[in-house]
Amino acid sequence: MKIFNSLTRKKEEFVPLEPGKVKMYVCGPTVYNFFHIGNGRTFIVFDTIRRYMEYRGYEVEYVQNFTDIDDKMINKANEEGTTVKEIGDKYICEYYKDADGLNIKRATINPRATEFITDIIKFVKGLIEKGYAYEVNGDVYFRTKKFEGYGQLIGQNLEDLQAGARINVDERKEDPMDFAIWKAQKPGEPAWQSPWGPGRPGWHIECSCMAKKLLGDTIDIHAGGMDLSFPHHENEIAQSEALTGKKFANYWMHSAFLNVNNQKMSKSLNNFLTARDALKQYDADVIRFLMLSGHYRIQLNFSNDLLESAKASIERLYNAIGNLENLITEVNTEKMNDEEVKYLQSLNQYRERYIEKMDDDFNTADAISVLFDLIRDTNSNVTINSSKELCEKALSLIRELGAPLGILQKTTKGNLEEEIEALIAERQQARKDKNFALADKIRDELKAKGIELLDTPQGVRWKKVD
Ligand code: AMP
Ligand code: ZN
Repeated sequence: MKIFNSLTRKKEEFVPLEPGKVKMYVCGPTVYNFFHIGNGRTFIVFDTIRRYMEYRGYEVEYVQNFTDIDDKMINKANEEGTTVKEIGDKYICEYYKDADGLNIKRATINPRATEFITDIIKFVKGLIEKGYAYEVNGDVYFRTKKFEGYGQLIGQNLEDLQAGARINVDERKEDPMDFAIWKAQKPGEPAWQSPWGPGRPGWHIECSCMAKKLLGDTIDIHAGGMDLSFPHHENEIAQSEALTGKKFANYWMHSAFLNVNNQKMSKSLNNFLTARDALKQYDADVIRFLMLSGHYRIQLNFSNDLLESAKASIERLYNAIGNLENLITEVNTEKMNDEEVKYLQSLNQYRERYIEKMDDDFNTADAISVLFDLIRDTNSNVTINSSKELCEKALSLIRELGAPLGILQKTTKGNLEEEIEALIAERQQARKDKNFALADKIRDELKAKGIELLDTPQGVRWKKVD
């Protein structure tokens, strides 16, 4: 499996630290609002990569943090007259609703930065002791000059970076490139006690600390949106490697933006669509299809037309699934004949091609094309004259290749039982309301579906009559 490593700017063969296992850390959301589908793209991309690695047999330890203390959190708490903790609790809960709605698998762990304050303080202390950080009036800064590899991820040396940073000279810092790893409390801000007085952690140190604590000094993959590569990830490397003396992450992965009119979708530009609103109109399959229809390192320009075309594509795929589901109940032969066995073997080429595409730095766009080739093939070759076994195997292959993308797992058959129970409940209510006309209408509707109602002492029961 090949991964484009942002650190070396090359596609490299993936070699995990421990055979069969992947330790992966993805920078998660700041939980002060509902997330938008731009954030959603990043979450879906790395969820897909995780799912694909699991499909290929890896055991993935997947950590995605919640940033639950920073300026935006504090401002939101002040606006709403509540605490930062409550804002965090609320939007973490909302995050799960939307992420579940987008069929994003739950992480192995979703750590909250504020639950790691003791470890963060220990981390900061360690850096000061090693001479990599210094305190000024309750703030602690990282001494970038002392860390030799600074700039490795962005691919620039410290002098060039310093030249660019001189505009924002801050008296407290020894060097303009130094960054805060601990911030002294300002009036009205929440704070934790520390050897440097009350304060709170800087954003970068949170991720360094949680990754180390939960996954170890060296991890396989560290990932996030493209905007995080500098300074966030550069600073994470500096802090972590300065403290441990070991390599922090073997592979760095960055996903490209979801844009609107060629500008990054973001809260500040007010050009965003929340995942919640998108899900009101479109199914998770459609939204995921849209995000995965392009390569994750290429920017994607969002538009309603693109959503509509994703919807049409998903419909085509589900039509093929529906067709096979119907055939399974209609065909007359059970087992495959020799010719079908051969045909099924020929379908394996789609699995192989799919794996080849996904193994090549997770080329979901090409993998999706393979899926379309597969359904074109089954649409014309699996018919009413096929065996049930072949129909089932073809269907299961489509679902198998959809699963790492988090799509095509639904059935096109409505859930009959739920539908019937809902109608019965509606009829009971109608009777209570003495709306007998409606009650009779529902009884007739059920009868037309072949459902007979029985009034028993335990309530209404139903049975299917042919
Ligand atoms: P935030 O909540 O802003 O810290 O962002 C959470 C994650 O979403 C980070 O990994 C960001 O890089 C990513 N992100 C933010 N905006 C976009 C966008 N328009 N397209 C893709 N990823 C984004
Ligand atoms: Zn981070």
